[in-house]
Amino acid sequence: MPRCLHCGTQIKYGRTDKKFCCDQCKNRHYNEQTRSGRAFRRKILSQLVTNYDVLDTLFKAGVYSIDLIDIVTMGFAPGIVTSYRKVGKHEEFCCFDIKYIMTKMRIYSISKLENVSVHLQGKQ
Ligand SMILES: [Zn+2]
Repeated sequence: MPRCLHCGTQIKYGRTDKKFCCDQCKNRHYNEQTRSGRAFRRKILSQLVTNYDVLDTLFKAGVYSIDLIDIVTMGFAPGIVTSYRKVGKHEEFCCFDIKYIMTKMRIYSISKLENVSVHLQGKQ
């Protein structure tokens, strides 16, 4: 017997592929999903801002390489990036316009992308 994804009540009537016992449970379930999706997005965005601030501070101070353990202490989260590509044997990451190479132990070659231009479609 299937159970309601929201309240766990056994669903006794209706199609066997029903996921919710009633419309209220269905609505609550999707509302919660939307809320947690937004909360997750906010969390990632705020971590990206923190990562950027840490990298920018290092770059402006002329520090272009640092042990991973030290940058993590500064609030940097290595798993949160805006882009990634493999360059030869290296793994190059970006946080917006700052790029760096990251290994298991160290971040190095911190630099800024040059000639960054942003084209917003439909906006002049
Ligand atoms: Zn229910």
